[in-house]
Formats: sequence, C-alpha cells, structure tokens
Amino acid sequence: MAIQTLIVHDHNIETAKKVALDINGELEARKSHFRVHTKSNFEIENLRSYHSVDLNIFDQGFDYNNIKLMVSDMDSTLISIETIDEVARQVDLSNEVSLITEEAMQGQLDFSESFKKRVSILKGVSTESFNEVYKNKMELNPGASELFKFLKSIKIKTALVSGGINFFAEKVTDVLGIDTYRANDVEIKNEALTGNVLGAIVDAKAKANYIEELCNYYRLSPKQVIAIGDGANDLEMMKVAGLSVAYHGKPILKKSCNIHINFGGLDSLIDFFDKS
Ligand SMILES: [Mg+2]
Repeated sequence: MAIQTLIVHDHNIETAKKVALDINGELEARKSHFRVHTKSNFEIENLRSYHSVDLNIFDQGFDYNNIKLMVSDMDSTLISIETIDEVARQVDLSNEVSLITEEAMQGQLDFSESFKKRVSILKGVSTESFNEVYKNKMELNPGASELFKFLKSIKIKTALVSGGINFFAEKVTDVLGIDTYRANDVEIKNEALTGNVLGAIVDAKAKANYIEELCNYYRLSPKQVIAIGDGANDLEMMKVAGLSVAYHGKPILKKSCNIHINFGGLDSLIDFFDKS
C-alpha cells in the first residue's frame, strides 16, 4: 500500500493527533495545518463523519503547483447570502422567492426556469433595493479575502461565475480583486426591474462552459482549474475542473467534489499550496 497524505485543516494539535491515531499515521506540522501520512487504508467519508474538522486527501499524483485558474460561485460560496432571496426579503416577497431558490439549489427544479420565475416575481422592485442589500446584508464568507490575496500572490487567475445577477457579481469581483466574472443580466427600466431576463441564463451547463471558455482564453487545460461552489447549479463545472471544492456544500454537490470544506473558511484551500 502506497503512502497516502491527509490534510487536517486545523491548528489544533490534539485534533490532528486523534485523526493520526485513527488511521495509524504519522503527523506532520505545517504552517497553518497538519498533514497525516499513512500506509493504512481508510475511507475518507467515514473519517469525516467521526471528526469535526475538515479533512481532505492531498493527492501526491496531482500537481497543485500547476493550477493557474480558480473559478468560484458567488451566492453562499464567496458571500454568505443568496442575493436574490435577500432582495426579495427587502421588499417582502421573501416566501415566494426563497422557496424557489431552495428547490433549485437542491436540484429539484430546473435552474433557468427558477431564475426566470424569481425575477418575474421581483417585477417593479427598484434598484435601490439592490443597493440596500449590498450595503446592509452582503458579507464575504470567512477566509474569502485571504484566499484571493494568496491566489494573486502566486499568480493564479481568478473568476467569479454566478447564477445570480450582474449587480452583485460586479461588486464582489471588485471587492475581492477578482480578474473576471459572469452572471445574469436582468432588464431594468426607470430604475426598476421589469421582470425580464436579458440574454442567456447562467445555469449549471453555462458555468461549465465558462470554465472552458476561460481555458481557451488563458491557454490552459481544465485540469489546471479549481472550481468552488455550494449548490446543484455548480455540479457541471465540477466535472470539468481539475480540482473541485464543495464549500459548505449541499449533499448533491459534495458527491461530485474531491475537496470538502464543511467547517473552516475559504482560506483552508491555501493549505494545498503550502510548500513549507
Ligand atoms: Mg451558490
């Protein structure tokens, strides 16, 4: 049996020791985390269910240093809210809209249909509600700033892709210094939503296509891409990317991702690039 390496995304040595003991492994301290090297066979899912800490396999056969692009979802991944739900809450249409969002994220409703439905419910809502949500409700998820700062420092390109609306995608792109983004265009007349969507909707397939488009542009292989997301709408892009990350992800998405972050922040991903 070859040696396998497990990343324990935690500073606490007691936690790491417990994991090491469980798989009869050798503990190695890194700058921001621990690694456990073992010849024992283990089931990562079992291990994850026993320990309340993020555990991921560090694949010795994968060239992490060859990653050149990170593509991330926005709502509930880079930021803590579902932006359209928050806009709806702002104008007391919360019940109607959240229900549709949740169904779509669980994979029970076609995304494009659900998006159109939600935008049509928001017909007449003023763009001022977007500003209110941005100013008062939008918060970056833990570790987002640190992650993007780090990626910039090692010259990895970044992109945001969202099934939400351009208004928020543009703001988050600005705040995090992301290189490029794609999201949905909603029609606005007289500073209010008309209820119509403009152009093609960014659904699961479009997210995957966007990765391919960026790979063409930057002359990369999809294997050099990390994709991060949390919902069913991120499933297709996970199949394309070399590394797929479920960030506090829905069960349906986790099944298709090789990296799971269930406890920590987005900066946990920095651990994969640690050369110390
Ligand atoms: Mg999301």
